[in-house]
Amino acid sequence: MKPIFFLILLASTIVTFGQKKKICFSIDDLPLVTYGISDSVYQQSLTDKIIASLNRNNIPAIGFVNEMKLYDKNNTAISWQIKLLNQWVDNGLELGNHTYSHPDYNNLSFQAFSRDVLKGEIFTREILNRNGLALTYFRHPFLHVGNSKEKNDSLNNFLSDHGYTIAPVTIDNEDYLFALAYKRAKDNENFALMKKIGSDYIDYMEHKLKYFEKQVYLLFGREINQILLIHANLLNADYLDSLAKMFLKNNYEFVTMEEALKDNVYQTNITVYGKWGISWIDRWALSQGKKGDFFKDEPATPDYIKKLSD
Ligand SMILES: [Zn+2]
Repeated sequence: MKPIFFLILLASTIVTFGQKKKICFSIDDLPLVTYGISDSVYQQSLTDKIIASLNRNNIPAIGFVNEMKLYDKNNTAISWQIKLLNQWVDNGLELGNHTYSHPDYNNLSFQAFSRDVLKGEIFTREILNRNGLALTYFRHPFLHVGNSKEKNDSLNNFLSDHGYTIAPVTIDNEDYLFALAYKRAKDNENFALMKKIGSDYIDYMEHKLKYFEKQVYLLFGREINQILLIHANLLNADYLDSLAKMFLKNNYEFVTMEEALKDNVYQTNITVYGKWGISWIDRWALSQGKKGDFFKDEPATPDYIKKLSD
């Protein structure tokens, strides 16, 4: 190759590498989705695994906490559960409020729901403040933001009055179904099935990513800073490295929630409301009047996962 062509090739490669897409990893239902396993050693080992993988892959993730999980039956705070949250912050990760008890806003009044929001911020705020950080982000359970304009407005005003920024989701998915199927395969010591579920999970997430990238392009004609939602469970503890690798392969870099939200796509108006718990990309599409056909390519969760997680 002539040196000049080599230089041109090198320069264009550097430009391509310089234009990385951005994604924020948000991890819900902290400290952990336990499937009823209350053993502290088990929970500690999963938390260690999740945090180690986030750090190894330089992912500045944010975890959203349900503080009800920090209490025992007698309503006494469990110190080792609180320690799990401290561990997130000690490792440079962020925390946000995901309500106290993970209620469904579709079935609750604004008054009752907002009480649950405030009840859910006690330890999280304390831990963040002690580390010189502020409690900033709120994530709606089930991504239910209010099924009418009135309910949505009341909650938005309340959150903003209490200093919260809403943490949207763009790459919505059913990781929790894969995770439940995976946990049941583990209970049955079916290691071949665990491996298949893990590998199908990464494929499914890549299809979801490409689908939402395409939808965004159809709506806005450009790429956006994405926000991924996954849950703090066994499957993700085992497969976070593979998930990170998949995003790197697709030319992503990992950013904080604050960095992701600098994209002004997050100022896009949402004008339609329903009971749905869906991606913000879908909300923007519905608000632009898009109908059924627009969403026809959305990857489905495989039937065997639905059966195993039933
Ligand atoms: Zn949740």
